[in-house]
Amino acid sequence: MTQATKTYEEGNIFAKMLKGEVPCHKVYEDDKTLAFMDIMPQAKGHVLVIPKQQAVELSDLEPEYASAVFMTAKKVLQAQRQVFERDGIIQMQLNGSEAGQTVFHYHVHLIPSNIHELGKHAVTMADQDELAEQAKQLAAIINA
Ligand code: 5GP
Repeated sequence: MTQATKTYEEGNIFAKMLKGEVPCHKVYEDDKTLAFMDIMPQAKGHVLVIPKQQAVELSDLEPEYASAVFMTAKKVLQAQRQVFERDGIIQMQLNGSEAGQTVFHYHVHLIPSNIHELGKHAVTMADQDELAEQAKQLAAIINA
């Protein structure tokens, strides 16, 4: 397997989330993945799905975690369509700083939006109460 150009650093923010050292607005969790609200959403309802594997980017991802991330992404996407009443959900994933990746723990973005309406990447902080409410609504559908 081709390796990422960057070595995995355990101090990254998503690693801290997985260890419970940093809070997040959790949408879904299982033994291999965690899904939570993006703190600087590019549209209302922007969710990130991460594997519980130390992967910087796609080239590091083990098949069982790749499969688990996509299964979780499907659950999230279906719930986003109901909660945010949008059919269009952008699935995005950046590999390497040259591509614009800013957090070096693999993650899939799921953004209820249209590519022509997408907000700026990782710029504007969301209201925490709104994120908490959105996470609650998504979790209720996924866990129903
Ligand atoms: P990347 O640029 O690596 O593809 O995306 C990183 C994403 O993580 C961005 O969309 C950014 O808003 C989000 N992000 C950065 N720091 C935090 C954080 O502390 N909490 C949450 N929930 N999201 C974060």
